[in-house]
Amino acid sequence: MIDLRSDTVTKPDDRMRDAAHAADVGDDVYREDPTVAELERRAADRVGTEAALYVPSGTMGNQIAARVHTERGQELLADRKSHVVKYELGGAADHSNLQVRMVDAERGVPSPSQVADGLVEESLHRPGTGLLWLENTHNARGGLAIDPERIAAAAEPAREHDVPVHLDGARVFNAATALDVPVTEITEPVDSVMFCLSKGLGAPIGSMLAGSEAFVEEARRVRKLFGGGLRQAGIIAAPGLEALENVEDLERDHEHAELLAEELDGIDGFDVQPPETNIVLADVSGTGLETEAVIERLEEEDVLATQFGPSTVRFCTHRDVSREDVETALERIEAAF
Ligand SMILES: *Cc1c(COP(=O)(O)O)cnc(C)c1O
Repeated sequence: MIDLRSDTVTKPDDRMRDAAHAADVGDDVYREDPTVAELERRAADRVGTEAALYVPSGTMGNQIAARVHTERGQELLADRKSHVVKYELGGAADHSNLQVRMVDAERGVPSPSQVADGLVEESLHRPGTGLLWLENTHNARGGLAIDPERIAAAAEPAREHDVPVHLDGARVFNAATALDVPVTEITEPVDSVMFCLSKGLGAPIGSMLAGSEAFVEEARRVRKLFGGGLRQAGIIAAPGLEALENVEDLERDHEHAELLAEELDGIDGFDVQPPETNIVLADVSGTGLETEAVIERLEEEDVLATQFGPSTVRFCTHRDVSREDVETALERIEAAF
C-alpha cells in the first residue's frame, strides 16, 4: 500500500522508538519532565520565540492560541479556507465564543487592505477583532508556501490596531524549506505560532505552540483547561526531539511531490497544478468519474489519496514514501486510468 493521504500517516522510525525507550521522564503537569522541557526549549529556539509549549495536537495548539489571545464574542479574522475555519469543528466558536470573519484571500493570506478592511473597532455595538489568523503552508489551497514578506504585510495593519496575530504553521518548516529562508523570517512578525511534529517531521504525536513567555504561561493554563496537561510526556516528546532533526529531509518530500505532479498531469483526466511543497492537488473531473470513484479505483491499485473538494483529490508526500514508491504509484495510476 502506498499511502499518500497525508503526511500524518508517517510512523516513528527506530531512532524515535529508541529515544522514547530511553527518555528521562517526570510529571509534566508539575513541570518535572526534563525531556518535555528540552523539547520546549529547542522548539522555541527554532522558531525564534521566548518560549514554547508541547501540546497533544495541532488543533489543540490552535484552539489554545485562539483562547489566549481573545475575549469571548470578539471576531477572528481568517481566510475562508483556513484549517481553523474548515477542519476544527467550529472550535473557535465552541471553545472561545469567537465569531469568525472570513475573507477570500489570494494564496490564503489576506492582503494588507483585506486585513485593514476586515478589522473591527470595538464599540457599543461591535465586539472588535481579537485575532488575525494566518496559515503557512496553506493546506486547503494546495500546500502553498507563503513568503515572509506576505506574512509581514498582513500582520502590519493588525499590529497598528493592537490586534495579535497567530500563525497556523502546522507545516511551517515545509514553507521555509521550499522558500529557502530561515523559519524565523516567517515567524518573526507574528505573536504566536503552532507547528506540528507529527506531520512531515515524522513524530508519532504532538505539536508545539510558541510565543512570548507571558503567552506560553497562559497557554499552559488553558492547555490544562482543555484537558491537555500531560504526565510522563517525555515518552512522546523524545521522538519529537528527533523529529526536529528531520527538517532537512522535507526537501526530498517536495521533490517527490514535484515528480508526482508532473507525471500525474500527463495521465488522462488528471489536471494538476505544480506543487509548492508536499501537497499535490489533482482535479479529476476530466476522468468523467465521481471523485469517490476515482479514490476507490486508486485504492484497488493500493494507492491511497483523499478527497479534497468536489472534484479534487489530494496526494501528500512524506518521509515514509520513497522515490521508488512515487514511481510505482504513478505506474499503477497510469494503468488504472
Ligand atoms: C494538520 C493541521 C492542523 C491540525 O493538526 P492536528 O495535529 O491534526 O490536530 C492545523 N492546521 C493545519 C494547516 C493542518 O494542516
